[in-house]
Amino acid sequence: MTRTQTSPTERRPFLEIRNITKTFGRFVALKDISLVVYEGELVIFLGPSGCGKTTLLRIIAGLEEPNTGQIIQDGKDITRLPPSKRDFGIVFQSYALFPNLTAAKNIAYGLENQKLSRKQIEARVQELLELVGLPDSGHKYPSQLSGGQQQRIALARALALSPGLLLLDEPLSALDARVRAQLRGEVSRLQRRLGVTTVMVTHDQEEALTMADRIVVMDQGVIKQVGTPLEIYRQPATPFVADFVGVMNFVPGVGGDDPDTLRCDDIILRADGAVSRGQPATAAIRPEDVRILGVDPNAPDAFQATIQEVEFLGSFYRLRLQVEGLRSTLLTADLSINAAREVELAEGLVLPIRLPPESVRIFAEVSS
Ligand code: ATP
Repeated sequence: MTRTQTSPTERRPFLEIRNITKTFGRFVALKDISLVVYEGELVIFLGPSGCGKTTLLRIIAGLEEPNTGQIIQDGKDITRLPPSKRDFGIVFQSYALFPNLTAAKNIAYGLENQKLSRKQIEARVQELLELVGLPDSGHKYPSQLSGGQQQRIALARALALSPGLLLLDEPLSALDARVRAQLRGEVSRLQRRLGVTTVMVTHDQEEALTMADRIVVMDQGVIKQVGTPLEIYRQPATPFVADFVGVMNFVPGVGGDDPDTLRCDDIILRADGAVSRGQPATAAIRPEDVRILGVDPNAPDAFQATIQEVEFLGSFYRLRLQVEGLRSTLLTADLSINAAREVELAEGLVLPIRLPPESVRIFAEVSS
């Protein structure tokens, strides 16, 4: 599922993260982070373990104090407010439900101090149980619920007070793959329906690509790129982003005679981007952009390739290709099983392939 993209700039800024720095002893966990989250958006912090995404979420929640910087929510500076004085609901990775309370009591927990009648609380709890698709589970204890059901209850509890901000800290990562995939769609649809501004943390790129309005890619305490899933996938700003999100071929080389060419061993790659002559750089192309079928061997971006390996991955084949003249790197290419019917894929087969310039990006930095 992809989300309909309204330009975020048409929306009102709801959460502003301004120049946040956080250190633990001498270790700098966040370095001068700034970001605006717009009203109703689902923004996902994505990055490898230790990049600082959880620390940033905890600072937004008031569970951690920044050294410098400000957090502005709905126009108010909340940087020094304790969590209890802030307007958010949170779901953690581990279910964190009270084991000795029923699902209904867990959801009602935050409602108890709200000067509501018993009847009003019961009605609200039932409404929330229905919202998360568990209308008949209010009487069950957490141990009687599956992991996915427990996370739905945790979500209902986080939403009970209709918070302005929903914070999700790896809410799906403890679940098995099938439940996780199903809940992704459900959480995303529910978030959109309620229009609640949401910040979620994950290290799972697929989760980020399928759920987010915008993804914030982080590494070592800094933001590497902010963009829609499509922007992050198609126009990664750095080799790190390109490598972390999706699969990417990297081919090292040096700038050729023409500015949009890269000399890689004995081949010349034409690319979308400029590099100065002789400058070390990296070309990047996604496996699905390597053209395999119906290639004119005389096209300027065509190369001879030998299939070294064929891997069957369900809906597609992943090929490892040795390109003639390209000694240093094997290329990975993906071919859907439908497309693969047109060619007899076999190890050792030599065939022409195309690396279309519009799909090849040049990074004027060498990927590590
Ligand atoms: P993960 O997915 O593994 O949780 P993360 O990107 O969420 O990673 P954080 O939990 O934000 O990373 O941690 C960022 C860095 O700060 C890590 O190197 C971590 O060891 C360090 N760190 C976090 N909390 C503390 C703490 N209370 N004391 C010392 N170091 C900490």
